[in-house]
Amino acid sequence: MSVRKIITIGDEILSKKSHPVTNFDKRLHSLIDDMVETMQKYEGAGLAAVQVGILRRVVVIDVGEGLIELINPEIISTKGSQYGAEGCLSVPGKHGDVERPMEVTFKAYDRNGNEYTKTVSGLFARCVCHECDHLDGKLYVELADNIVDNE
Ligand code: ZN
Repeated sequence: MSVRKIITIGDEILSKKSHPVTNFDKRLHSLIDDMVETMQKYEGAGLAAVQVGILRRVVVIDVGEGLIELINPEIISTKGSQYGAEGCLSVPGKHGDVERPMEVTFKAYDRNGNEYTKTVSGLFARCVCHECDHLDGKLYVELADNIVDNE
């Protein structure tokens, strides 16, 4: 495993759409392992593969409710809304307020190609939306009402 370099805002790859994963192989597993290590090293709550320069629909999330891997995730339904601060490892030193659903149900595959469905809420739901946006080339700064420096 190794920590990968995080790509930051200004690099055009962050605005590109990621491609679906078709091979659930060793190469995918080592990408996921590296993404987890990178997320932990930089103390992020989530990381999308594009943030380490790989245009594949792979996301890892850990908001303190256990580590989860989302391959080819799709949001199926949402409920309610929440408004609050969001940050991104690709936009270092800043945060901004974004409106997101309060609850999100999504389906995704695990690293072995098994499909699963999960419903999450609060910060977890916010993070799923944020990371799925990355897979479509969107950054939270495009949705935020304000972008301010971290204290
Ligand atoms: Zn992000």
